[in-house]
Amino acid sequence: MMAEAVAPPHLIISSKRVVMPERVAPATVVIADGVITAVERYGAVPDAVPLLDVGESVVLPGVVDTHVHVNEPGRTEWEGFETATRAAAAGGVTTIVDMPLNSIPVTTTVAALEQKARAAAGRALVDHAFWGGVVPGNDGQLAPLARAGALGFKCFLVDSGIDEFPPVSEADLRPAMTRLAELGLPLLVHAELPGPIARAAASHVPDPRRYADYLASRPAVAELEAVDLVLRLCRETGCRVHIVHLSTATALDRLRDARRAGLPITVETCPHYLTFAAEEIPDGATAWKCAPPIRQRDNREQLWRGLADGTIDFVASDHSPAPPALKCLEAGDFVRAWGGVASLELALAATWTGARARGRDVHDLARWLSERPARLAGLRGKGRIAPGCDADLAVFDPDARFTVEPSRLRQRHPITPYAGLTLYGVVRQTFVRGTCVFDQGDFPVGAIGRWVR
Ligand SMILES: [Zn+2]
Repeated sequence: MMAEAVAPPHLIISSKRVVMPERVAPATVVIADGVITAVERYGAVPDAVPLLDVGESVVLPGVVDTHVHVNEPGRTEWEGFETATRAAAAGGVTTIVDMPLNSIPVTTTVAALEQKARAAAGRALVDHAFWGGVVPGNDGQLAPLARAGALGFKCFLVDSGIDEFPPVSEADLRPAMTRLAELGLPLLVHAELPGPIARAAASHVPDPRRYADYLASRPAVAELEAVDLVLRLCRETGCRVHIVHLSTATALDRLRDARRAGLPITVETCPHYLTFAAEEIPDGATAWKCAPPIRQRDNREQLWRGLADGTIDFVASDHSPAPPALKCLEAGDFVRAWGGVASLELALAATWTGARARGRDVHDLARWLSERPARLAGLRGKGRIAPGCDADLAVFDPDARFTVEPSRLRQRHPITPYAGLTLYGVVRQTFVRGTCVFDQGDFPVGAIGRWVR
């Protein structure tokens, strides 16, 4: 396990439960210049170096959340780098990858990417990276965006909710995916097709306050047809495809088959799909509105099985905040309300709460929230506790509980469907490249987050 230290260590963290790629064991993590230089046996402590022994608390690799809508610049009143990255740090998240929308401008040009990086600089408490966007007609921007640091590209197959980020058709996707295959970068797909959604709307006029009507308006078949389309194009172009926020478990069989057939496909789901069930969502409760929607209880259990057997690779928050007025909380109007759940700070605890109840362990948690998302984003120095990786760590007490109090969350707006829920898993401290950015409720340093690319 010894690696040659390139610099004298500046911090050593010991725990009875360090979550490494292959196992969970007592260990000592040696950190120099923000990098893990060695992982040694527990109790092997060089002299004259600050030592933090967290005892029975778990040391996890910091969460890498590859699905975050920061919305700055342009919609900073929805969320911004300062608030989002404080929420991240408090939730054990050490790297976020920001989506190309809903900022203004959207990240579909190099100039927009540079604007976004400037907005994050000096404001972000954790490390951050950016996805670019594929929209109709920006083909020529993909290679320049990749050179400028975009880690991959996101597209919508259905209305995104934002006029500046229009959906793409099959005709747009084919050349874009060919280009991305050449670049070796993944295409992240919001996999719902408009046809089934339009058919649902034509056959039924919804009561805007009824959750069951909202659910029926975004049927599983919209996800299924979208998955079929992108699998077909994946086979044709060889482009890596990542399905974001999978909600319907009915897609799992075909995704499993596609992977067995060797297609370069990965899948994420979100904590809200793993936590909530349609049967329990009250009418008018628009805090739960997201797209695709939260489906029934048995669907949720199948998603957990998909995660357990590896058909679903990992969990990302899809942190997508909006101001209270846009969530239509008073009217409880599911048709008009902004779709999105902001859970950057709660993703680790919510996922752990469900995982724990289903007999999973902290090793699964690290794979689902750190290692595999880092791999999707190509961030080789992130997501693992191993020599050579950045010292991005979360000190986590898996047996402690807390009740979610919206006003105490660090995100900009205290809106959350998790309000009042008791979750397992308290983040005690968070380290970004060896610097403690969150310490038992405090934020001891300023905005040290860096753009990673
Ligand atoms: Zn999203």
